Amino acid sequence: MDCVICRTGKCLPGKTHFSTFVKDAFVVVKNVDAMICDNCGEAYYDTPAADYIQKQVELAYNNTADVEVMKV
Ligand SMILES: [Zn+2]
Repeated sequence: MDCVICRTGKCLPGKTHFSTFVKDAFVVVKNVDAMICDNCGEAYYDTPAADYIQKQVELAYNNTADVEVMKV
């Protein structure tokens, strides 16, 4: 699949870190499966990966092993 951001890169399977702000915390989900652009680095998540991210983010306040929470 071609990257829709830069339109020149090819997206290849890989692992990436997903980060987002949740309420008063900055949540990082490590080693998420994604399709990653080899040109600009944009990550695309399929449905299982998106579900995994959502679940890990929800668990963030429970401080599970795969998630780091940095209070801001
Ligand atoms: Zn790209």
